[in-house]
This record gives sequence, structure tokens and C-alpha cells, in this order.
Amino acid sequence: MTSGPLRLAIAGCTGRMGRALLRLAAADPNWRIAAALTAPGDRELGRDAGAVAGIDELKVNVTESCASPLDVMIEFTSPDGCKAWAGWCGRHAVPLVSGTTGLEAAHRAALDAAAQSVPVLWAANMSVGVNLLLKLVEEAGRTLGAAWDCEIVETHHNRKADAPSGTAKALLDALRRGRGDADPSFVRHGREGVIGPRAAGEIGLHAVRMGGVVGDHDVHFATPGEIVTLRHHAESRDIFAAGALRAARWLVGRAPGRYQMRDVLAP
Ligand code: NAD
Repeated sequence: MTSGPLRLAIAGCTGRMGRALLRLAAADPNWRIAAALTAPGDRELGRDAGAVAGIDELKVNVTESCASPLDVMIEFTSPDGCKAWAGWCGRHAVPLVSGTTGLEAAHRAALDAAAQSVPVLWAANMSVGVNLLLKLVEEAGRTLGAAWDCEIVETHHNRKADAPSGTAKALLDALRRGRGDADPSFVRHGREGVIGPRAAGEIGLHAVRMGGVVGDHDVHFATPGEIVTLRHHAESRDIFAAGALRAARWLVGRAPGRYQMRDVLAP
């Protein structure tokens, strides 16, 4: 690790999250953007990363491979991008913060493999507010149990690739932990047709896609006579980018292994 600003690589730098990260990191003297990475074939390849993010020139061109010495990488790409950059970080001894969602077993295995040699933090949602919501939902599950109906509803912009959102899945896991409920068959993705009465203990999980919504998550708990709703509303991608930068700073110098946002935010 160097003294002075930490050398950061941003993978997925031409995407919605990548541009937010470029903007925030460029405005913070504690960071030096050392590499701006994207997928082969991206038409932004070769451009100055500052121009891509709509800010002043950064004198770092967008590339598909990385040759610069780094202190940490943040990647918000695609499941295959996550797998590829996790392998790269493991081989090059670079700590990794990953926020890519829609991961399957092979992608998660790549994060585990990298974590044998470097610290790796993956989180479905990097915002402080959502991480509080996860705790509250776990507590609500513990207090209310399976006797209360629970419906998780997420809304995102119409370009989002995966559904339900990684955050909705994390909320489901938190609820299950709280309820002590191990049976995944209780999840109902949307409803259609003559479905009859709601099964006891069922958890509804619903994905709404529209317009430019950054990310809304509502968790409803209902019993005859009362409803409790826990809600997070993201107004800007900057909350995820700021959380990822906070996580990256925290991760530098840690031992190899898997970490979570709750480790970063622990009091
Ligand atoms: P986007 O489509 O706008 O951008 C994706 C970027 O990744 C582009 O620059 C693309 O060229 C690049 N990319 C794709 N495959 C790549 C590869 N193999 N190697 C290198 N670069 C590659 O997407 P986005 O809205 O920025 O979201 C990216 C991911 O982050 C999604 O999975 C999304 O769900 C997730 N996300 C997570 C959080 C969180 O807090 N964890 C918040 C927002 C979005």
C-alpha cells in the first residue's frame, strides 16, 4: 500500500454505476483513479474516463485490461465481468469490492476463490440505508414470525438486467433468518390466475420495472387489522457509489477472506 491517495481501478466505468464512481472518486483527494475498465467492444474504449463521466479530464483512458499498480478495485459490471475481475484480482493481489448482482453459483465461486488470496467484499446493495433496512427486516421477521403475511416489492428502471433485485433477495434472506424459516418453497414470485387463498407462511416477491427508478424496496407485513411497511427509496446512484468507496477504503490492508457491508458499517 502506498502513502497518499489510494490507487483505484473502476471496472464497468462506462456504466451507470461506473460513471457515478468516477465522479465521486475524482472529487475526493483520498483517491487516485489509476484504471478505468470496461468490456471488450465497448465504444467508449480509448476515451478519457473524465469525458465518459461528464467531468474534467482525468488523463486516464478507458481500457479493457489493467497494467497499473493498484491498491483496490471496485467492479459494477455483469456476472461474467464479476467472475473475470475476481479472477484478475486474485491473481494480481488486489482487494476487490464487487456490487454486481444476478450472480449464479459459478460467479460466487470466483469471488470465493479470489478471497483465498485477497480481501473481497460483495454486497447486493452498498447503501447505508438499505443495510439498516436489512437489520430491521430481520428483526421484524423475528418479532412477527410467519403468522404475518409478508410481501417484498422492488421497483427499478427499465434497463435493469436481473429480477428480482439482489437487494430483494438479500431482504428475503434477512426475513428468513429472522423467522428461522429455512424452506425456500414459501416464496411466491408474482401471482396470476385462480390462486386461491394465500398459503400460510408464504412470502411474496415482486419486481416492478419502469422508467428511470434508481431503486425502491418495500417490505410489507400484514395481519388482519394492521399493516407495517418498511421502505427504502434511493434517490441517486451516488449512495451506492459512496458506499462502495467507503467499503474499498475499509478493505485495503485487511486479511484475505469474504467481507460484507455490515462489517464496514459495524459501530
Ligand atoms: P450498466 O449496464 O449501466 O453498466 C455495466 C458496465 O459494465 C458497462 O460499463 C459495461 O461495459 C461493463 N461490463 C459489462 N461486462 C463487463 C465485463 N465482462 N468486463 C468489464 N466490464 C464489463 O449497469 P449498472 O446499472 O452500472 O449496474 C452494474 C451492476 O451493478 C448490475 O449488476 C446492477 O444490478 C449492480 N448494482 C449494484 C448496486 C449495489 O449497491 N450493489 C447498485 C446499483 C447497481
